[in-house]
Amino acid sequence: MISRRIWAAAAFGVAFAASAWGQAANWPTRPITLVVPFAAGGPTDVVARTLGASMTRTLGQTVVVENRLGAGGTIATAAVARANPDGYTFFIHHTGMATAPALYRKLPFNPLTDFEFVSQAVEVPMTLLARKDFPPNNFPEFAAYVKANAAKINLANAGLGAVSQLCGMLLEKSLGVKVTSVPFQGTAPAMQALLGGQVDILCDQTTQTLPQIKGGKVKFYGVTTPARIKVMPEAPTLAEQGLKGFEVVVWHGIYAPKGTPKPILEKMNAAVRTALKDPMVVQRMAEMGAEIVPDSQLTPEALQVKLKTEIDKWGPIIKAAGAFAD
Ligand code: ASP
Repeated sequence: MISRRIWAAAAFGVAFAASAWGQAANWPTRPITLVVPFAAGGPTDVVARTLGASMTRTLGQTVVVENRLGAGGTIATAAVARANPDGYTFFIHHTGMATAPALYRKLPFNPLTDFEFVSQAVEVPMTLLARKDFPPNNFPEFAAYVKANAAKINLANAGLGAVSQLCGMLLEKSLGVKVTSVPFQGTAPAMQALLGGQVDILCDQTTQTLPQIKGGKVKFYGVTTPARIKVMPEAPTLAEQGLKGFEVVVWHGIYAPKGTPKPILEKMNAAVRTALKDPMVVQRMAEMGAEIVPDSQLTPEALQVKLKTEIDKWGPIIKAAGAFAD
């Protein structure tokens, strides 16, 4: 009797493995969802849609970008952590995946254990902007003006967990000031408010800000990278203007819910790598100042190491800045 049960269990196990393999072998057989944790039209969304268009061609199924908003990207992250690991839900997020554990005392997910790792993608510089009629005309004037008028100044961002909030918080700490934070569902609406003069300052990624800077629609004070950037070599870094060591470079990772079958993860990793070599993607990323991550860093293991390293890096910095939510 027992041997029959063992045979039945073994047969079930083989059948299940075969069905998972079969499922993966034909994957994808329907559209794939790529969740973006910020509003459409913003930096994260632009990276997702650029990659998604290329992966749609490679995979033969539409990669549908779905914007899940709120709480600096943590609502979307929690939703993906609970999503069905059937190989049809993926997630793109940036440095915020690493800062959330230090910013939130209670998080409904663990970035390191609740997800499968697919690949890194691009790294994007940030730029410090102000509304067009903001009085300071260069960074030294900006620093002096903000120190003298902090109580009257507000800074737009995409919520606690967004890199625009992280950049703003580091700026406050560097200048020794506290300004009013004005959160939006992403930096696309934040940029609209800046262009409309409703907010004073915004720190955002070149994937969105380059056209506004080059079009003279905003005041621009510098880039947050350690060195000047190829797409705008005339732009000074904040570090060279006195903010020694001020560095925020926005890296992006693609994830899936824990339990997504490995053969599907491998196929998705291959599709991301192909997209990052797609001439249209290469040109678009270069135009936006986004640096494509080297091939050696496009493995799931490299993303896992990057995330762990970044969590360890940002934790003490954020705790020292004293900015976290319950
Ligand atoms: N990258 C976010 C966005 O796409 C903004 C942010 O993190 O600050 O809106």
